[in-house]
Amino acid sequence: MNEIFDFAVIGAGASGLFALEGLKDKKVLILEGNKKVALKLLATGGGKCNFTNLNISHENFVSENQHFVKSFLANFGTYDFLDLIEKNNIPYEERDNGKLFTLSGAKSILDILLKKGFSENHILKTDCIVKNIFRIQNENQSTDDYIFKIETSKETFFSNKVLIATGGLSYPQMGATNIASKIAKNFGIKVIPMSPALAGIRYSDSCKNKFEKLSGIAITAKGKIDKREFTDQLLFTHRGFSGPLALNLSLFVNENTKIKFNFIPEINVLELLQKEKNNKRSLINILSDYIPKALVKTLLDDKDFNLPTIKKDEMEKISQLFNSYEIQIDKLDGYDKAEVTRGGISVDEIYPKTMEAKKVSGLYFIGEALDVTGMLGGYNLHWAWASASMFIKGLKKN
Ligand SMILES: Cc1cc2nc3c(=O)[nH]c(=O)nc-3n(C[C@H](O)[C@H](O)[C@H](O)COP(=O)(O)OP(=O)(O)OC[C@H]3O[C@@H](n4cnc5c(N)ncnc54)[C@H](O)[C@@H]3O)c2cc1C
Repeated sequence: MNEIFDFAVIGAGASGLFALEGLKDKKVLILEGNKKVALKLLATGGGKCNFTNLNISHENFVSENQHFVKSFLANFGTYDFLDLIEKNNIPYEERDNGKLFTLSGAKSILDILLKKGFSENHILKTDCIVKNIFRIQNENQSTDDYIFKIETSKETFFSNKVLIATGGLSYPQMGATNIASKIAKNFGIKVIPMSPALAGIRYSDSCKNKFEKLSGIAITAKGKIDKREFTDQLLFTHRGFSGPLALNLSLFVNENTKIKFNFIPEINVLELLQKEKNNKRSLINILSDYIPKALVKTLLDDKDFNLPTIKKDEMEKISQLFNSYEIQIDKLDGYDKAEVTRGGISVDEIYPKTMEAKKVSGLYFIGEALDVTGMLGGYNLHWAWASASMFIKGLKKN
């Protein structure tokens, strides 16, 4: 049998690289499917990496077990990562809603991770896709001592323990694979069904005819799915709704979900129409003071009205078009465009203080592979750091 490593880390992305610091004194094999490490991290935040957020609470995350994330945020908050940024003199800026971005680019975050994580005990193999992992009896032992056999696109490796940090299914063009859920299923670990999230919302056929001509228009709107409500930029594209508002709403889309859009959240259109009842300006012109004329005309199906002639029930219908426009969602953009994956390894299967699988000793999961998905705003990377930090803390205790 070949060499047996202390730990194999599968996936050299955000969480896997962060976790390496806890394994400095161990003989570690790091296996990365891409030719280079952390390709997705380098693409985050349009290359500037929205690395965390000043306002983080468990409510910024979606999971079947909403409370799981609380202890992680208490253990590793915004300032824990910010400290690292400041110690390394990485310039950064705050953008809307507490989002923190580097000014120097995502590469500077990668450089920190590489500097703080790797040691001479570590071997990195890139362009090496893990295909499967099994637990086998250790031939060198007479006891019932098990080790992990790791089959890859290149060779087979052996390790006493394995950390799965392979992320979700989003962006297969950057190396995403379903290996985490495949391994979990092999070991009888529950996987919450996965779907694309932080993704554009595609128009249904009827919506497409109406809205595709608005491609390129962006407004500040409010969107509501059940009790979840967001106000943010909404972008009309030729395919569907995009921009931060649509991406955040996509986290809460299930079968037959309906969204209510308020295209002019700052005013009550019914009250405006009643107030302007004697105004001689056309309705299209009055509403175009608030949102682009092309959108006003589209919502009104190109019909214009003179306010003095509009009846009360017509006013109510018109106001609904602008303040409460309901859309039935057909589907979201796929994994090739979705920033993250909702669902994944059930967190109820993981010891929250060590990240070890309850059913398989020596097997650990961190990062997006788990059923924890953040909203737009640096929350997904924060989860990668926080879950890796908990893994490190757990190692110290053992
Ligand atoms: C375009 C884009 C922009 C984003 N911007 C932001 C942002 O600004 N802020 C934010 O918080 N989040 C952002 N995200 C989400 C964020 O990048 C992820 O949530 C985060 O990288 C997850 O970290 P991870 O370590 O779990 O997985 P990853 O960073 O995806 O790392 C997983 C690694 O495992 C490797 N791997 C996968 N399968 C195998 C296999 N079978 N064998 C070997 N290696 C394998 C992958 O190649 C990858 O290197 C963005 C995502 C995308 C796609």
